[in-house]
Amino acid sequence: MEQTIAFDYDRQDAAGATCTAHAWAKVPQPPKDRAAAKARAAQLLKARGAVLVAHYYVDGDLQDLALETGGCVSDSLEMARFGRDHAAQTLVVAGVRFMGETAKILSPEKTVLMPDLDATCSLDLGCPAEDFAAFCDQHPDRKVVVYANTSAAVKARADWMVTSSCALDIVGHLHAQGQKILWAPDRHLGRYIQEQTGADMLLWNGACIVHDEFKGLELQMLREQHPDALILVHPESPRSVVEQADVVGSTSALIKAVVEGTQQRYIVATDNGILHRMRQLAPGKELIEAPTAGNGATCKSCAHCPWMAMNALTNLIEVLETGANAIQVPEPTRAQAQACIERMLDFTAAQKARASGMTPGMGAA
Ligand code: SF4
Repeated sequence: MEQTIAFDYDRQDAAGATCTAHAWAKVPQPPKDRAAAKARAAQLLKARGAVLVAHYYVDGDLQDLALETGGCVSDSLEMARFGRDHAAQTLVVAGVRFMGETAKILSPEKTVLMPDLDATCSLDLGCPAEDFAAFCDQHPDRKVVVYANTSAAVKARADWMVTSSCALDIVGHLHAQGQKILWAPDRHLGRYIQEQTGADMLLWNGACIVHDEFKGLELQMLREQHPDALILVHPESPRSVVEQADVVGSTSALIKAVVEGTQQRYIVATDNGILHRMRQLAPGKELIEAPTAGNGATCKSCAHCPWMAMNALTNLIEVLETGANAIQVPEPTRAQAQACIERMLDFTAAQKARASGMTPGMGAA
């Protein structure tokens, strides 16, 4: 059984105007016997020689399954790295479409399967490749930097791809070189990076339907109730929420803040799928979801991504049994997109090497 969720989201057209579009998600019901379904999925992963690469926002059963079977649960930067470097010839990506595409772009020789190919992202939907190309053509003097949450065709038009883990460092690096930036698609993340780095950034007008719902005033009231709590915010959230944060960062950075923090209580402003891993890694700490308009206020106000929710044990088993839902990225789009993703991976690897005292092997532009 599936539940269909429909909602509106903002997008920018080629003329730069904001308009409203419509999207939907079909969320499968969990199987009755989850333990048996997990065991079956583990058996199928082994039989196929496949590895499961899951995002922190997907169902907890899938996160556990990934870790129990030698896969990974991580943010989109680490998912890309893990999939590229793992020996398995079949990657099963539990997340949203751009994550599967990124895996295929980096490993074209591998089979990349996803539980549901319709699992997308409002940032990706809100940045159609043709409109984006027209926007870039109007600003040829700017370096094009796109967030991971975009289609392969948009990445193919970009100079750099970034994730929320490395966006500040990469834009800061380009700014130090005197480059002007064209940024897409998340306006909140773009504004945050612009404020932090001082870079000259022209922003596409996209938003994440989940993070866009966090409310500044209600967060302030919640903090007054819990003055001892540390506020953790993902930078896709609106300014009024980011301004109240004690920690602003990627999903990995927010998890680290809970694990290493000395406080007992945390208010978390990101998709609530992350709480599963936070609870596992920091048992005993109190985690409070940051306020949105509230469950039922609109279909996007539950702080959980409807597209991430399309990943379930049931459809994972189906694709492992049938080999359906293989991701394809046609050439030359794939090769063009690969360049901007690898530029990011080279940059972050060089940073890591410098931090550990090794010789950096950075070949990025
Ligand atoms: S949580 Fe937001 S940014 Fe992440 S996949 Fe869903 S819509 Fe996209």
